[in-house]
Amino acid sequence: MTLLKLKRLRTCFPTRDGLVKAVNTVDLEIGANEILGLIGETGCGKSILGMSIMRLLQPSTRIEGEIIYKGQDLLKLSEAEMRKIRGKEIAMILQNPATALNPVLTVGDQIAEAIWLHQTMTKREAREKAIEVLRSVKIPSPEKMANECPHKFSGGMKERAMIAIGLACNPALIIADEPTRGLDASTKEQIIKLMKEVTEEKSMLFITHDLDAAAEICDTVAVMYAGELVECAKTGDLFGKPLHPYTMGLLDSLPCRGLKPIRGMSPSLIDYPSGCRFHPRCDYASAICEKKHPEMVKVEDRHYVRCFMYL
Ligand code: SF4
Repeated sequence: MTLLKLKRLRTCFPTRDGLVKAVNTVDLEIGANEILGLIGETGCGKSILGMSIMRLLQPSTRIEGEIIYKGQDLLKLSEAEMRKIRGKEIAMILQNPATALNPVLTVGDQIAEAIWLHQTMTKREAREKAIEVLRSVKIPSPEKMANECPHKFSGGMKERAMIAIGLACNPALIIADEPTRGLDASTKEQIIKLMKEVTEEKSMLFITHDLDAAAEICDTVAVMYAGELVECAKTGDLFGKPLHPYTMGLLDSLPCRGLKPIRGMSPSLIDYPSGCRFHPRCDYASAICEKKHPEMVKVEDRHYVRCFMYL
C-alpha cells in the first residue's frame, strides 16, 4: 500500500544569484513499512525535497506538483491543516541536532512540547511520555536526562534526542535528514541500529550521502543528481548492479571499492548543463547526451534509470 506519493514535484526559490531549481519533476512512492533511501552528493536537492514534503520552506518558495499522503494532497491543505500533519502523521528528524535542539530548554520539555501539540493530556502525563520516548531511544537514566539541556548530551545522545522528538507522537512516516552526519563510526553504527528498530512498523524517507548507511537500512534507494532522480531500485539491485554512470561513480568512490572520485563538480542548481545534466562528468557520454534530456525508463521490475544507454 502506498503511503506517500510525489507526482511531478518541483521546488524552486529565488536568490540574489538567480532562481534555484532545487527539485525537478520528481516522481516517487513510499509504501507502508518501507524505508526509502535518497542518496546523492551534498547540494543535489535531497534536503529541500524532504522540507518540501513538510512544507517547511520560506514563503517565497514555489512548490508544484502533488504530494499525496494517505490519499490527500498536502499542497492543497491550509497551514492550520498542515500543522496537524507535522509531527503527528509525518515527522522530520532535522540534520545537525546541535542547532536543531533548543539550547535553553530541557530535552524532556522539548519532547513534551511536541506531544502537547497533538495530544490532550496533563503536563505531568506528557512529561512521563517524554521519559518513555527517551527510554525507547536508549538514553541512559532517562528520568535524569529529561531534566538536562542539550549541552549535557554527547553528539550521539543529541541525535537520539532528535529521534525521540520525531517519535514523540508515533507518526506513520519519518523523514530523517542525514541522521548519521558527523558521527564517529561506532556512534553511527548505534544510530543506524536504533533507526532500524524504531522504524520497524513505520515508513521512512532516509536522506543521506552515506552510502553504507543507506545499504544497511533501506529497502529501496533513489539516487538524486542536480535536482532530479537518475536511478531508483531495490537496495540489493542498486548496489549490486547499478545502471546509471553517476550511481556507478558514487559506488566507485567508496573506500571498499577503490576510492575513485567522480571527476568534475556537481552543477549549480541555478544553471544546469544542457541535455543530460551529468554529461560533463560522464565517461559514457555520446553526442545525444549533450543535446537531449533523458527521461526515466523502467529497465527491470522496480528498477528505473535516466540514461540514453538504456533507451
Ligand atoms: Fe552519461 Fe549520456 Fe547516460 Fe547521461 S545519458 S549518464 S551523459 S551516458
